[in-house]
Amino acid sequence: MLRRNMSTVLTPKDMEEQGMVIGTCEWCHDENVPVYEDSKRCEDCDYRFHYCSICKEDQFEDDCCRHIFQSDNGWAGSGGDQEETNRSVKAAFLVFLSGMPASFPMDLKLAIQSGKFYTFTIGSLLGTDGVELNGLPYEGLLTNCFKYSHDILELGDSDIAEQSADGWYWLTSLYENETPEANALTIQWIDEFISKGEITQ
Ligand SMILES: [Zn+2]
Ligand SMILES: [Zn+2]
Repeated sequence: MLRRNMSTVLTPKDMEEQGMVIGTCEWCHDENVPVYEDSKRCEDCDYRFHYCSICKEDQFEDDCCRHIFQSDNGWAGSGGDQEETNRSVKAAFLVFLSGMPASFPMDLKLAIQSGKFYTFTIGSLLGTDGVELNGLPYEGLLTNCFKYSHDILELGDSDIAEQSADGWYWLTSLYENETPEANALTIQWIDEFISKGEITQ
């Protein structure tokens, strides 16, 4: 396999500006290639890593933690670069809310506020069998974490599936009390959704 030889592309000045030196990439082990001084990875490999601010370490894209996901506009999530992706993820999240039952936004808000919210997807080889939402408020004697499972799966097959997908991935990036900033942001988005009167309760 032919690898792009970047030393012919990058001038010494380019390299200095990008904090690169000639060395061996710690990931692909290519030798004598420009590598980033901090990550010790070549450009191609470094591009496949994304920093998670919750885990406080780089995540490899094929095996990343739950806090980041590849959105339509780059890596987002509770541990992702929120500035950059806020607007598009938020828009998708609002579409997601609009596709869910009227009771969902408030239940979700209470779940997140409880500090026990996280999602869990039960899958088989054939796909997703169910979606757990943990931390939902009590209703009568029981809390059923599968209360909205059917709605979420249906939404995933609907004509707003694509538009709302990043909103769902965003939710899956929240985890109990470990993602306080993203939790607060999500509650803010829910409040905006509710105050716009898009649902009547
Ligand atoms: Zn490499
Ligand atoms: Zn993480």
